[in-house]
Formats: sequence, C-alpha cells, structure tokens
Amino acid sequence: MEKPVVKRLALIGIGLIGSSLARVTKQRGVADHIAISSRSAETLDRARELQLGDSYHASAADACKDADLVIVCVPVGASGAVAREIAPALKPGAIVSDVGSVKAEVVAAMAPELPETAHFIPAHPVAGTEHSGPDAGFAELFDNRWCILTPPEGADREAVDTLAAFWRGAGSNLEEMDATHHDLVLAITSHIPHLVAYSICGTAADMETVTQSEVIKFSAGGFRDFTRLAASDPTMWRDVCLNNRDAILEMLARFAEDISAMQRMIRWNDGDALFDMFTRTRAIRRSIIDAGQEADVVDFGRPHGGDSLPGE
Ligand code: NAP
Repeated sequence: MEKPVVKRLALIGIGLIGSSLARVTKQRGVADHIAISSRSAETLDRARELQLGDSYHASAADACKDADLVIVCVPVGASGAVAREIAPALKPGAIVSDVGSVKAEVVAAMAPELPETAHFIPAHPVAGTEHSGPDAGFAELFDNRWCILTPPEGADREAVDTLAAFWRGAGSNLEEMDATHHDLVLAITSHIPHLVAYSICGTAADMETVTQSEVIKFSAGGFRDFTRLAASDPTMWRDVCLNNRDAILEMLARFAEDISAMQRMIRWNDGDALFDMFTRTRAIRRSIIDAGQEADVVDFGRPHGGDSLPGE
C-alpha cells in the first residue's frame, strides 16, 4: 500500500477507464475513499457488485461532495453536461479532471461550467482496450502507459502536481502539453488508425465479389488486426470524431495523399519506392517495442498449434 495521494476521490462514469481507475486506486491505496456515480442504475449496481468503490451515488453531484479529486470518465460529448451537474457540489480547492480522448473541445465544454474555486486540470490516459463497461476494467491498464495532462495557462501548480502524483500512483508515466497540440498528436497516433480500421472493416462488409464468410475465414491474412480497433465503442468514437474535427480532417487529408502516392507506386511498378517505404515503417514498430509500449511477441502473442483461438 502506498501513501494516499488524495483523501476522497470521486469517479463520475465507471466504464472501462473509470473502473480501471477504481481498481488501481483501491489496490495501490492511491485514495482513502472512492465515491462512484454512473448515469444508469444498472451500471452503478454492477460497480457495487464488483466492489469497485466505498460509496455509490445515483447523483453525480452527491458523489462529488467533499471530494478532493473528481475524475469525469464519460464520453467526451457528455463532459459539459456532467460539469454543469457537479459544479454546485464542488468544495473550494477541489481538483476536477477528466480522461477524454480529445482535449480542446472538452476544455471548452467543461471549463465555463466549473466554479473558479475549483482547479480544472484535464488529462488523457493513453491506454485502453476495445471493451467497455465496469467489467472491462483492470488495475494494470495504466502501467507504463502515458498520461497526458493539459493544464490551462495559469493553472495552480500544486493541483497539477497532485494530479500527476495520482496518475503516477496508478502506474502511468506523465507528460504535459497544451490541449490543441494533444489533439493533433492523438489524431495521428489514435484517431486516424481507428478511422482507417472502421473504414477497412466497412469496405470488407460491403464486398459483393468476395463473400462475408471468406472475409472471416481468411482474416488471419491481416484483416483481423484491424478488427480489434474497429470493435471499439461507437459512442466514444462518434464523440471523438465530432470533437476533434479539425485535426482529424487535416490528418485524413494527408493520409489520403499518401494513399494516392502509394497507388501511383504500384501503378508504375515502382518497387524501389515501395520497398523503401515498407522498410521505414518497419522501423517504427521497432521503436515502439524499444520504448516499452508494445511487447515483442510473434503474431501479437496469439497462441498457435494446439492452443488455437476459439473458432480457428
Ligand atoms: P465506457 O466503458 O463506455 O463507460 C462510459 C461511462 O460513462 C459509463 O459509466 C456510462 O454510464 C457513462 N456515460 C455514458 N454516456 C453518458 C452520458 N451521456 N452522460 C453521463 N454519463 C454517461 O467508456 P470508457 O471507455 O471508459 O470511456 C470513458 C472516457 O475515457 C471517454 O471520454 C473516452 O474518450 C476516454 N478514453 C477511453 C479509452 C478507451 O480505450 N476506451 C482510452 C482513453 C480514454 P452508464 O453505463 O451508467 O450509462
């Protein structure tokens, strides 16, 4: 058990990210008390059954009473309404944060709703899976993953340090940047890869000359690696697209240009250009493994031989 970073933590939203935070906070003693709220009675009941917290509240405002740190863990499109709801309950000096995958629009939606007596420090843990809900979380989700803080100009340093200490306690490495830069970086490292995966899966599903069953049967050729990303939560990704429009459109335009360039290389039999490009991209995976952000296991660690996957 570590020394608690805060006495009372409130988690508003208890899906994959909220429940992972609850689990790690409890396991490592990062807070003394975890107050949990979720929009639906069903999710809140499930959180209680899983014993994720110390108190459970149908009202988000009730969960925030006396909280030293409030972390809003809902889809980014809902963060403004949640900020409005909890604002009157926040004690002076409370730190309010979030985990949204987009930052500038979340800041624009939440900041005007919050009282000046609270410290608003947005954050984004760059860690996740394609699963949702309170059962999907696990305490190790943030281990050695980056958490990006985007403190607004003039943010209280002590509050930023407390939030950083909280995320460090949850296992994360910390980085700070401004919200707009965050959105540009994440557009290329997360948002575009998801959109490409959604698009490829959509194209495969619409095929007429290659049957659906063939797409599934021969998916180990590469297609199935896209399906993990394309299985991600539709609400979350709709909100990411609508709330990071400019950066995503900019990156999609570049991506479309690069795809056209590749089309030309193939059309003109430019094997050297293709080979150079594939060599460059292979090195990128190597750097991700070297940076400890991916395990160097063959075929993404999938079992082979006698241990075949269900359905294989
Ligand atoms: P999740 O598993 O789907 O859980 C969502 C939570 O938000 C649930 O408690 C849900 O409540 C609540 N919620 C949904 N819609 C709401 C609304 N309109 N108003 C109030 N509460 C609402 O989602 P998640 O994956 O944890 O994602 C939460 C946040 O983390 C998102 O902002 C996402 O961008 C960010 N994030 C996600 C990942 C990832 O890989 N999934 C990674 C990093 C950051 P009920 O179940 O009670 O309806």
